[in-house]
Amino acid sequence: MIKRDLILPPEILYPIEEWRWVESALSSQFLAQAETIFTVSNGYLGLRGAFEEGSPAYRHGTFVNGFHETWPISYAEGAFGFATTGQTITNLPDPKIIRLYVDDEPFNVSTARILRYERALDMRAGTLDRQVLWETADGRQLLVESRRLVSFFEKHVAVISYRVTVLNAGAALVLSSDIVEHPLPEKNEYNDPRLAQGIADQVLSQQMAEGKGQRVILGYRTKRSGMALACGIDHILETDCVSSSEAKWGEQGAQVVFLIDAEPNKPIALTKYITYHSSPSDETAELCVRAGRTLDRVVHHGFERLLADQRVYLDDFWKQSDIQISAQPPRLQQCLRWNLFQLIQAAGRADDTGIAAKGLTSQTYDGHYFWDMEMYVLPFLIYTSPQLARNILRYRYSILDKARERARAVNQKGALFPWRTINGEEASAYYAAGTAQYHINAAIAHGIINYVDITGDKDFLYEWGAEILVETARLWFDLGFFSERQDGHFCIHRVTGPDEYTTVVNNNAYTNFMARENLRFAADTVDKIQESSEKHYHALVLRTELKPGEVSDWRRAAKQMYIPFDTRLQIHPQDDQFLDLEPWDFQNTPLDKYPLLLNFHPLVIYRHQVIKQADIVLAMFLLGHEFTLEQKKRNFDYYDELTTGDSSLSACIQSIVAFEIGYDERALNYLINALLMDLADVGGNVKDGCHIASMGGTWMGVVYGVAGLRDYGGRLTFYPNKKVQFLQFHLTVRGQILAVEIKEGRVTYRLEQGERLTIYHRDEQLDLQPGELVHRS
Ligand code: BGC
Repeated sequence: MIKRDLILPPEILYPIEEWRWVESALSSQFLAQAETIFTVSNGYLGLRGAFEEGSPAYRHGTFVNGFHETWPISYAEGAFGFATTGQTITNLPDPKIIRLYVDDEPFNVSTARILRYERALDMRAGTLDRQVLWETADGRQLLVESRRLVSFFEKHVAVISYRVTVLNAGAALVLSSDIVEHPLPEKNEYNDPRLAQGIADQVLSQQMAEGKGQRVILGYRTKRSGMALACGIDHILETDCVSSSEAKWGEQGAQVVFLIDAEPNKPIALTKYITYHSSPSDETAELCVRAGRTLDRVVHHGFERLLADQRVYLDDFWKQSDIQISAQPPRLQQCLRWNLFQLIQAAGRADDTGIAAKGLTSQTYDGHYFWDMEMYVLPFLIYTSPQLARNILRYRYSILDKARERARAVNQKGALFPWRTINGEEASAYYAAGTAQYHINAAIAHGIINYVDITGDKDFLYEWGAEILVETARLWFDLGFFSERQDGHFCIHRVTGPDEYTTVVNNNAYTNFMARENLRFAADTVDKIQESSEKHYHALVLRTELKPGEVSDWRRAAKQMYIPFDTRLQIHPQDDQFLDLEPWDFQNTPLDKYPLLLNFHPLVIYRHQVIKQADIVLAMFLLGHEFTLEQKKRNFDYYDELTTGDSSLSACIQSIVAFEIGYDERALNYLINALLMDLADVGGNVKDGCHIASMGGTWMGVVYGVAGLRDYGGRLTFYPNKKVQFLQFHLTVRGQILAVEIKEGRVTYRLEQGERLTIYHRDEQLDLQPGELVHRS
């Protein structure tokens, strides 16, 4: 276990509040990371938290989920089957800019004399609010208030309310509301594989520009991927002061300028309505029409209505998803809520796309979707917003054909889901830590199993899930083989497990465990469908060309799956060679050499026993019923010492297993590490985006770790930690709502909504009736 400092920004700057993340003074030290932390997004559209006035800024960012440019991947030495086309989420023309000038002096928060400052992300209102009292050189004082939201109700809409009041004198005031194309894209200069690759030339070409009154709509198309975009803004200016406006637009963007004779104490309120529409295939002109219609509607309804709708959406979200913890230290409650809020910001309106590793907070990882989605975010969605969970799995189904093609491209049968992608094609240019992570197939299968078990959504399984299960099982059967040297066991060679610090290995134990589950469940599902629905069975056979004998092949492979076990150490080797590797010299690796991936050649890392992130430990959580407690302890003891946690996907999983085996102190440390991953900037890279997987992992750490939930086969069993002072949360299970409260070690279960739910408290079966409180200790 690498000891990392968990230092939150000081309370004097970031005071504790339960429902808001507050910045009470401007600090250049935290400027870049605050831009990420104050991002507002709805899963479709995201605006980084840079200021309306344009500067100071580390990196402006406006993103539409899935809107990307493609580029040819160039390899110095290519090889057959390598991914050919890169995909990068596009940093869009920035619509949030509102520049303020007083007698031609621009307002810039970093140079201005600021008498009062507060910025806050309000997690119940779903707004980013800022209040600044500015004193100009000649002593005039201006109150500048802004409120920004990206709407959960109106998926395509963001709005900014910008209010200026000159307090003690008149002034000639200019508000310039712009759509700006920033001089990006950035280049990845640091050899950090996590950052976006950056595309050297201009990505968007402008196809349309039209305006009327205070409205401008711009239409674009990406040069290579051919995606279309419309971006529109419209304004309402409310003031008793004399004003005029003028709009300009062109190749460089748009500008709507308001000239105002500001009088003392007369507020000037500008509401800027913003809309984005995007499509892989529609005409830009059509999108511009849609943008116009959206603006008509939201301008007509007004800002207050958007605010009220936002509140309704979030009230509902918090009702299902809030977790209350004991108030000591109170900072943790605030941080926990911020984590949960990021999850809905990343997933809320990701209706037909995936969820990127960074949500919509940056271009890092090129805006790609990884297994993070199914493994780390899906559990939270399954138990709190099942419809959103379904959407994610539907997205996976939508790229199944591409996964089939990808399997052909790497000479396999079935389907191979891309390690990283936006449009369904493999975008990983480093196969050893990319394509070789075949385990993504099993992550998706596991997500489907869990989703169906907990929601009871058989329709999804019959219509879509089964097809994915068949194709992923086929891949495994084709990839592995019955090895004579291993007594006829089914072996899977040359794969990379979750731990990217050992790659292209034989029999990665995690992969074999997970592939076995995938094979078994696919076989069971096909049999079940055959027995229960002729129509669905025929459709499945037709769509997958399922052959007689395939299902029994899968069962045979599952039954004979090779699971490496070292009888001397009584542990599961991470793979066939792992235990033979030279131990890593942790003693002589200073903290500034982490993450190792930025400081050592991959080959150095690959030949040592050193682990990036939970691997077999993850299998022990996901498939805990396949391990004895003794095995869990021994495996954990062995591997935890070797785990660097260089990936943010690790700490939460280590926490869950540590809780299970009774290592409470270590478990709590890991949980707090996951919880503070971004707010304490554990990896030093929050400025480049949030770690969405760790946020889902934090939810898992509380629910599976502290409350000890296990849900194998859809049977909910709780093993609550006895030292818990206070914890309260809700779970949605097969359409019913279960409230769980733990107070000083005593648990209360209550079926808040629904008819009857059977759960288990340790070994005891509890049949919950509506409203009844069931206490256990
Ligand atoms: C991790 C992967 C993860 C990716 C995106 C990498 O550092 O090793 O497991 O999918 O980040 O979050």
